[in-house]
Amino acid sequence: MSWLNNWIQWSQPLTDKKNRAIPEQENYHGSCLCDSVHYEIRPPYFTFQYCHCSRCRKATGSSHASNIILPPKQFSWTQGENLVARYEPASSKHFATSFCKNCGSTLPWLAKTGKAIVIPAGTLDEHPNITPKQNIFWASRAPWFELPHKLKAFPTLPGKSNACLLDDD
Ligand SMILES: [Zn+2]
Ligand SMILES: [Zn+2]
Repeated sequence: MSWLNNWIQWSQPLTDKKNRAIPEQENYHGSCLCDSVHYEIRPPYFTFQYCHCSRCRKATGSSHASNIILPPKQFSWTQGENLVARYEPASSKHFATSFCKNCGSTLPWLAKTGKAIVIPAGTLDEHPNITPKQNIFWASRAPWFELPHKLKAFPTLPGKSNACLLDDD
């Protein structure tokens, strides 16, 4: 159960290579929908990418996952870790999922290799100071996927606001 060892390793306090505590202001925070589970991450990141693979589409229920990837030592649970469940497809080399047992929100998951942790960016409560760099598994994208800029955009609900052009805010 190597992932279990890694799981235990995740819950240790964040430290740098010289085992010094990481200052609080260098961390970014995330949580689940019901607010039971909280975590924090620390840059630098490996990357931020949209993944259109079939597993990510199933796990998110959306056209793609929006994932920040970083070294596992730069991640820790800060609340509610006992509510985090994990699922690993037997056939995957890398992919797994984590989710809140109470609300079902997707949550950060350690790759089966143990070499990276994957942060579903929609669970962050702060701007992580990075924007997406690439689409991966583009060839596997949902057949109905449309680029957001090709669609009408309403600031809130249709009927309560007028369609506008998407901007880069
Ligand atoms: Zn929750
Ligand atoms: Zn994927």
